[in-house]
Amino acid sequence: MKNKTQKRIGLLTSGGDSSGMNACIRAVVRTAVFQGHRIYGIYKGYQGLLDNLIKEMSPRNVGGIINTGGTILQTSRCKEFFTASGRKRAFENMKQHGINALIVIGGDGSFHGLHKMIKEFRIQGIGLPGTIDNDLYGTDFTIGFDTAINTAMEAIDKIRDTATSHSRLFIVEVMGRDSGYLAQYCGIAGGAEDILIPEKKDDIRKIAQKLEAGFHKGKKSSILVVSEGDETGNAFEIKEQIRKLVDWEIRVSILGHIQRGGSPSAVDRFLATRMGFESVIAVNEGRTDKMVGIVNNQIKLTPLEQTWTRKKKIDLAFYKMIDALSI
Ligand code: ADP
Repeated sequence: MKNKTQKRIGLLTSGGDSSGMNACIRAVVRTAVFQGHRIYGIYKGYQGLLDNLIKEMSPRNVGGIINTGGTILQTSRCKEFFTASGRKRAFENMKQHGINALIVIGGDGSFHGLHKMIKEFRIQGIGLPGTIDNDLYGTDFTIGFDTAINTAMEAIDKIRDTATSHSRLFIVEVMGRDSGYLAQYCGIAGGAEDILIPEKKDDIRKIAQKLEAGFHKGKKSSILVVSEGDETGNAFEIKEQIRKLVDWEIRVSILGHIQRGGSPSAVDRFLATRMGFESVIAVNEGRTDKMVGIVNNQIKLTPLEQTWTRKKKIDLAFYKMIDALSI
């Protein structure tokens, strides 16, 4: 299926990286060439667009990357892109290569930048959700989330072993910025005694009582999963609050950037490939200023603007499970 109008499409990854971005790059490059377009890799995100780090790509450039973490195009945060003069320079570089459409893999910040380019220079632009936080409105899941929760879950499993050996309470801090999705999923999957997320107010006294009761009921270990953006504080601050209320010996573990890397899971490779393919179809159809998402297993295009003006709601009903499962 060749497309009638050949386009020159620029592709970049921007903001925080996530596992599965490479699978997505592969899908975009191969689908674009298959459809008769020319595709240009822009290195180091918007910084590369400003610095003219642009190279035409072929299907052979993206072999052997479906299973690799990170992004072969690299990524960045670029202050200059916030300025109109910076974006003008970016547009001049696009013009020089004849690029008339941009596909951006990133988060809502990156989409905000893309939206401005579309408005200011009438280019065509499509966003693809790449973030471990799963906090983007317009898609049930984002590229990298599944790998991150699996990494965090495996870490929690290992922490559980040592926690049990020593009868300890562990407070495990996971990423997610101001969103609790990551904590919710890896906490439930790792059998956590409780999960602290920014979307829900915590009652530390009640949590401590539960932990203490668990200790007296013969629990050999307890794990609290804390989202990095939790309003009660970070893992060390929470430890200080709980320390005064329980008899457990407490340790803190901050999982950090391991959650961003590693070979993508099958789910992330599938998601990234499907979304990458659909982004080129969207370009073919003349769609612009939209993010490709998947909602209820159907492809859905959402206006870029909604990804930062609307908030994806986390389902707090899962909290009903925790008290039952941590008895
Ligand atoms: P993410 O895309 O993961 O949310 P950031 O918020 O750090 O990550 O955004 C990535 C980059 O996108 C920024 O460094 C900047 O270059 C660009 N960007 C973000 N917000 C805007 C904005 N409001 N206007 C222009 N560019 C923006």
